[in-house]
Amino acid sequence: MNYIERIIEKVLQENPGEQEFHQAVIETLTPAKTFIESNKIYENLAILERLIEPDRQIKFRVVWSDNKGIIRTNRGWRIQFNNALGPYKGGLRFHPSVNTGVIKFLGFEQIFKNALTGLPIGGAKGGSDFDPKDKSDFEIMSFCQSFMTELSRHIGPETDVPAGDIGVGGREIGFLFGQYKRLKNVHEGVLTGKSVDFDGLPGRKEATGYGLVYFAEEMLAAIKNSFENKKVAISGAGNVAIYAAEKAVQYGAKVVTMSDSNGWIYDERGINIDFVKEIKELKRERIFEYINFEPNAKYFNSRFDWNIACDIALPCATQNEILVSDAKNLIKNGIIALAEGANMPTDFEAIKLIKENGIEFGPAKAANAGGVSSSALEMSQNSMKTCWSFDESNNRLHNIMKKIFNDISDTSLEFGEPKNYLLGANICAFKRVAKAMIAQGVY
Ligand code: NDP
Repeated sequence: MNYIERIIEKVLQENPGEQEFHQAVIETLTPAKTFIESNKIYENLAILERLIEPDRQIKFRVVWSDNKGIIRTNRGWRIQFNNALGPYKGGLRFHPSVNTGVIKFLGFEQIFKNALTGLPIGGAKGGSDFDPKDKSDFEIMSFCQSFMTELSRHIGPETDVPAGDIGVGGREIGFLFGQYKRLKNVHEGVLTGKSVDFDGLPGRKEATGYGLVYFAEEMLAAIKNSFENKKVAISGAGNVAIYAAEKAVQYGAKVVTMSDSNGWIYDERGINIDFVKEIKELKRERIFEYINFEPNAKYFNSRFDWNIACDIALPCATQNEILVSDAKNLIKNGIIALAEGANMPTDFEAIKLIKENGIEFGPAKAANAGGVSSSALEMSQNSMKTCWSFDESNNRLHNIMKKIFNDISDTSLEFGEPKNYLLGANICAFKRVAKAMIAQGVY
């Protein structure tokens, strides 16, 4: 067995039942196989063995009280994967599907995504199986305070700086930050994604979605194309989806679909993003409500299967939302590009199919790195005790996304597979992390 095969076998053997983690390791290492195996130093210094084992995994009980005074318990995680490039950085996900395998897949991906930003941040992820849906603000606060009571022992502005992810937005980050301050008596940059009213970065909320479109625009420009007059299919209706849609529209595209876990909407004339913001951000309702704003739009109470005429696909909901059957639908309907807003939204076999059919493919660790890039800018802003404007932060984000695209595009060229951004992203990121690990000695 060669080096990569042995590592994959080891991951499968030693982490039973953690399917998403297995998938993330396979999807990251397979495209970089030839490069890693032809440089014996990686095997000699056991770089992969050290990368697949997190620095530490913290799992804890979270006890809180609901509106009726009933005591509830949930599980919390923080998995600090690798800090070769800087303090641990990565979001917190609150969703009933969260388990060790999900957090490990996200943390593993985060190491390489953060490396691509070129900023000094290591990789981590955390979260809970708590479901914020249908909870009152008071219940959310009660949960967040309990979660932070344990988490606060393990994080700090120079150690580990969490942010949001699915189910964790500005409201949750505010409650978490308040509790951290109460416990530590310091107002410091220990979380990102904070409100602009207290140390948050203007533009952080928009960053992942905007960054995705900035990246996709570069990818389209490389084939002498753009968002102008294109039909865009988006999944999800949360933070990433909303701001990807907003930027795509600003770039002259029409967004025709959005979804949530109950169903999806289709608006042939182009989805009105302000209505979606009102439904999802303000009222915290289901995407179904859109048809009350736009009676000509259609709602389908089913899983979104991407069977829609469109030019560009931006999956922005969750992992494994584009399977082989969905990819076949996209190909049949003639898409030219797919850029991943969510983490690991496209199944490995579906990626192969997309690429074999000549469709431009932007992998998540590059395409959605705008969020963590802006989070790193928020860390700088906080430690400098300054306050940047929206334009300053958005311009920096735009430049970072262009640089990520250029770096991975150059890497794909260097390795003889121009425009293979999956290969470019994985090799480019791996080289940066491995170089730092080698320089810091064996531990
Ligand atoms: P949000 O919680 O704001 O939104 C998630 C959206 O996806 C919601 O519309 C949600 O619907 C839908 N969704 C979640 N799970 C499922 C599911 N199992 N099936 C169908 N729909 C689902 O999360 P974000 O927008 O922040 O995150 C979306 C994706 O982007 C995730 O993969 C995340 O890891 C990734 N990401 C996020 C970043 C950020 O800065 N926020 C940064 C980089 C990546 P419902 O409301 O019904 O649950």
